Amino acid sequence: MKYYSTNNPQLTVDLETAVRQGLPADKGLYMPQTIPRLPAGFFSRLPGMTLPQIGFEVLRPYVQGGVPDEDLRLICEEAFTFPAPLSKLDRGLYSLELYHGPTLAFKDFGARFMARMLGYFNAHTQHQNTVLVATSGDTGSAVAHGFYAVENVNVVILYPQGKVSDLQERQMTTLGKNIHTLAVAGSFDDCQRLVKTAFVDEELVTALGLTSANSINIARLLPQMLYYFYAYGQVEDKQKPVVFSVPSGNYGNLTAGVLARRMGLPVAHFIAAANANAIVPAYLATGEFKPRPSVETISNAMDVGNPSNFVRLQALFGHSVAKFRAFVSGYSYSDDQTRETIAQAQQKYNYVLDPHGAIGCRALQAYKQGADVTGVFLETAHPVKFRQEVEAVTGKAIAVPAPIQETLHKDKLITQCGADYAAFKAQLWRLLS
Ligand SMILES: *Cc1c(COP(=O)(O)O)cnc(C)c1O
Repeated sequence: MKYYSTNNPQLTVDLETAVRQGLPADKGLYMPQTIPRLPAGFFSRLPGMTLPQIGFEVLRPYVQGGVPDEDLRLICEEAFTFPAPLSKLDRGLYSLELYHGPTLAFKDFGARFMARMLGYFNAHTQHQNTVLVATSGDTGSAVAHGFYAVENVNVVILYPQGKVSDLQERQMTTLGKNIHTLAVAGSFDDCQRLVKTAFVDEELVTALGLTSANSINIARLLPQMLYYFYAYGQVEDKQKPVVFSVPSGNYGNLTAGVLARRMGLPVAHFIAAANANAIVPAYLATGEFKPRPSVETISNAMDVGNPSNFVRLQALFGHSVAKFRAFVSGYSYSDDQTRETIAQAQQKYNYVLDPHGAIGCRALQAYKQGADVTGVFLETAHPVKFRQEVEAVTGKAIAVPAPIQETLHKDKLITQCGADYAAFKAQLWRLLS
């Protein structure tokens, strides 16, 4: 399989190059040159398959020529070690719990797979890489844990100082070893700008072997398809059209869902569920894509003002607003509406939502008012990650899971950093020399 840049379909590279570079030199995003269709037999076997088995079959065509079958099978078994239960809240209303991995958020799927792919490529080539990531909260900890102690890879995580939760910060900063963290005096957009600038800084790219690990890396994106397949296999009522509601920020998760559909998954419709950063819902309403500075919300992993994966979605929909609208509906909710939804789910279903899942749930409920469908919303983070906010609404204590408890007695290892590029670059040299 070859991968092309969304800025220039003529520019194609192999998987290893796409994974190492993250971002093509022309600043587009890598996309697979073809989207293979899965055989009908795959879908009849689906309900009995495990996540690693699904991962192997879905990802196989995308790594062909780069990773042999036996190695891919092993990578899937090592990456997808935790369950993704489908909880039934009501008739035709399911929560796909993607938060049972080590950092309690769905980003574990992509981060763990990508780490093992890069580890695999480096083991065969004597390469050294530095993974550079900007995070608004959850990417950082997923990447840190995914790459922890992987040889020949350093990780540097940038996050906006004071704008991630204490638990999120603990999960990123208490590992040590090959994991470094920079607390940037600025916003998530500042972090993203620094990272994007670094990736076109030849000096840094060459000296450090820079690569990205946020949702723009193709090896993060592709494995996110597998839980759409898994959920579809588990849903009881497939007579009705199946709809997925995706709480979205940078739109990697939704892009993976649309890719899964193109591979043959019978999804009738997608819902782009946003917080106040409603860039894509606004695009669906007006036909105009207008990035804006991000605003802070209680669903902070979705506080993205210029979603990177929008260009991939456009490529998948042939740059047509009409096609985009035919498959995706947009909804956006305020923090108060998010809290209200958390409270209602507690009362009505005795189910604890986190703020991100709550937005997905509310959007799905709104969509279901006008369409008789089986709906699945993605629960992207464990509610304990937003403990204060959620407990304040439900009035009930959330038990702290073991992976979080372990971080509570460890020291945070943090380097502070200004939001201008020169200061950032100086810190980077210092950290890695
Ligand atoms: C990253 C994240 C999202 C947004 O996912 P995208 O792929 O960036 O759209 C939603 N919820 C949580 C908890 C996240 O960490």
